Amino acid sequence: MFEKLNILDEKEKILHQTASEVTFPIPQEYKDYIQRAIQELTYSQIEEYANKYDLRPGMGLAFPQLGISKRIIIIVHEYEEGKFHNYVVINPKIVSYSDEMIAAEEGEGCLSVNREVEGHIKRYARVTVEGFDEEGKKIKYRAREELSIAFQHEIDHLNGILFYERIDPNHPFYTEEELRLI
Ligand code: ZN
Repeated sequence: MFEKLNILDEKEKILHQTASEVTFPIPQEYKDYIQRAIQELTYSQIEEYANKYDLRPGMGLAFPQLGISKRIIIIVHEYEEGKFHNYVVINPKIVSYSDEMIAAEEGEGCLSVNREVEGHIKRYARVTVEGFDEEGKKIKYRAREELSIAFQHEIDHLNGILFYERIDPNHPFYTEEELRLI
């Protein structure tokens, strides 16, 4: 049976705090949340299920959004129509990034932000992220384009930063000449 997660709203204090490092082994409770997050994020990106369960489409979640102030992120990336790849990274760190910056042309969304926020957020076009899997094994991912944005957005959550805080109030929109918009 599918049971929707309780995703916290931006007004909750925990979303503005720095999450703490995870130690291994991780509790079964965290593994259950990870599985549920993967399922819900996947469903949310499949129209039929999104409608059925009234899910807002989203590709990522960070543990603080579930009320747990720990450094765990989950991303479900649709790399091809109808095909998804899951990324679960514990204690993630961006170890290198491109000089090139990009922004999502339509802006970013967040399952904790239940309103429209317009503006471009400057992100690295490519990042390398290191961290650990659920068993404590070291992992490393190279991400580009929208997946790179997703990693940066989710890691921001672990540092108490919501996407709209990165919109420059003096220059909320970039032109194609100023920044590559994807
Ligand atoms: Zn978010």
